[in-house]
Amino acid sequence: MSEQVLVSGANGFIASHSIAQLLEQGKRVIGTVRNPNDATRTAHLRALLGAEAGLTLVAADLTAADPFSAYIDVDAVLHMASPYVLTVQDAQKDLVDPAVQGTVSMLRAAAKSPRVKKVVLTSSMAAITDEPDGRVLTEADWNDKSTLTRNAYYYSKTMAERAAWDFMEREKPGFELIVINPFMVIGPALSSEVNTSNQILVDVAAGVYPAILALEWGFVDVRDVADAHVRALSASGAKGRYICAAGNRNMAQVVQLIRKAGAASAKLPSLNLAHALGTGLMTLASYAQPAGVGSYLRTHLGRVPRFSNSKIQADLGLKFRDVDQTIIDTVQDLIRLGHMPAANG
Ligand code: NAP
Repeated sequence: MSEQVLVSGANGFIASHSIAQLLEQGKRVIGTVRNPNDATRTAHLRALLGAEAGLTLVAADLTAADPFSAYIDVDAVLHMASPYVLTVQDAQKDLVDPAVQGTVSMLRAAAKSPRVKKVVLTSSMAAITDEPDGRVLTEADWNDKSTLTRNAYYYSKTMAERAAWDFMEREKPGFELIVINPFMVIGPALSSEVNTSNQILVDVAAGVYPAILALEWGFVDVRDVADAHVRALSASGAKGRYICAAGNRNMAQVVQLIRKAGAASAKLPSLNLAHALGTGLMTLASYAQPAGVGSYLRTHLGRVPRFSNSKIQADLGLKFRDVDQTIIDTVQDLIRLGHMPAANG
């Protein structure tokens, strides 16, 4: 029988691509979603090549008492489910509880299953830093600044990953834990929804940003992030955490690439505030933004993230797509799906 993998949050942006790649390799997948009968969130999975024979969708909520034990008789796990939203009502309840409880529930379930050999957890660059400081960040770095009121999503990812390593240390289960820490994941979507990270490109094109700001992001293509997870399942030398990011682009470059990809340019920002005075003004203005957006701006404006992605290339043999091409592919997919207007539309 082929290898069987449990994937949580199966309908998500990254998970959908991961499942597509697992099915292409002939693996069998059990995917957890909140509601398997909700066709609007699952039809794209059922339409994947090989899904009819190889994919089973089941129901699981991260905050349920024991959401995963019923499905854990598998060879390996990709734990990807976690709320990915920047603005919430109650950061503890809406972000931290599901992230941490879901991770611990999955590891507890896996520890009771003699068949599970490996769990790959989707953490984030958010667990490495929430405020780039000019140093080259590596897997040895931890975000120790986020709190419930400062970059709460980052805090939820940090707490969840810490809980996972603490569990491994304390329980010494019979499986290995590998953690993938992606930066900003963008790329073509397998569903028609816009994920939180692709939404940033939609927002830039829609004029949500008043000007070109001193913001710079590390990007990685969703197809490469899925590839990293699938490789981590079988790579024998894999160990620990893996920064997963291809390279940086700043907002001015992103604006140029959106235009080059054929999106309507009428609302693209043109005023240049990517300088010290602009950053000062925008920092003041950030206090009028919703809490999640405000703290993001205050910790990222004027800061250039630097990181090493050599470990993931060496251990997993991952090759990153070119960032410019990823941005162009993403924009063209967003236009195709009707989320961004075309220049000639
Ligand atoms: P996504 O499309 O929003 O996927 C998140 C998944 O988590 C969805 O399937 C969602 O289910 C599920 N989920 C959220 N709360 C849940 C709950 N209480 N119970 C059960 N399922 C729940 O986002 P994504 O970008 O693919 O993110 C996947 C993983 O990658 C997350 O762990 C995220 O933190 C991590 N990550 C993402 C990025 C990025 O830039 N996209 C970067 C680094 C790390 P519903 O559809 O039902 O809400």
